[in-house]
Amino acid sequence: MSLRHAGLGGLEVNGGRAVVGAAVTLARLGRDERLTVLRPVVESIASPTIRNLATVAGNLFVRQPYGDLAVALLALDAEVSVEGSAGKASRPVAAVLEDGVAPRQLVTAVAFDVPDPGRWFYTKAMRRRQNSASIVTVAAVVLVEDGQVASARIALGGAGARPVRAVSAEAALTGRPFDRPHVEQAAHAALDDASPFDDAYASAWYGRRVLPVHVRRALLGEGG
Ligand SMILES: Cc1cc2nc3c(=O)[nH]c(=O)nc-3n(C[C@H](O)[C@H](O)[C@H](O)COP(=O)(O)OP(=O)(O)OC[C@H]3O[C@@H](n4cnc5c(N)ncnc54)[C@H](O)[C@@H]3O)c2cc1C
Repeated sequence: MSLRHAGLGGLEVNGGRAVVGAAVTLARLGRDERLTVLRPVVESIASPTIRNLATVAGNLFVRQPYGDLAVALLALDAEVSVEGSAGKASRPVAAVLEDGVAPRQLVTAVAFDVPDPGRWFYTKAMRRRQNSASIVTVAAVVLVEDGQVASARIALGGAGARPVRAVSAEAALTGRPFDRPHVEQAAHAALDDASPFDDAYASAWYGRRVLPVHVRRALLGEGG
């Protein structure tokens, strides 16, 4: 069933809050000048041809190691609007990634606060520069106040059956200086939150070896 003409193609950004219709394509998301922080996410996904068809809502439901936008939306703590015969509701993206949506329910939009570029971190390790699934995807929003991390939301892809929050890494970072030694500690702590799996792109063993490296690179802005 195509939702292309179902009226779910709106894209608004007001007062720093983005509301993106479920049927907005990844290509359109990546072109939007108000959402340039998300461009590296979009450009890390598949190929331009796929991005012309793939939708924001569809990316929430693809299996890992796909679903890089879903990882970003988890780090952004997005709200997902759903609608069905029982009416409309809003659910945290984490709940939708965990449980899906009910039968006869559709995602209609996702909403999130657009992060300042200096607070947004993203990297995706993959076998090729284009058209490759994730080995590890890391997305994070980190707020630093007075030289210390006031809050951190770090999400991982390729690190389990679904995108996960790296809560151990978040705890290791919060309240501490945002510097290399503390980032390295947090990156190792992220292993407690991850369950990498064997697939055609990487073994679980390799996934565990490289996960802290990519968390560190993402947070220090050293991602490729
Ligand atoms: C060759 C290839 C490479 C890819 N590489 C990557 C990659 O590197 N990174 C990445 O993130 N993704 C990747 N993808 C996935 C791609 O980006 C899309 O997310 C995916 O194909 C889903 O496409 P779609 O939006 O057309 O959703 P569909 O295929 O139409 O739907 C996918 C699922 O979502 C459900 N769904 C869709 N819309 C809604 C809605 N509004 N409400 C409720 N349920 C809904 C459908 O029922 C279905 O279960 C790749 C896909 C392909 C084919």
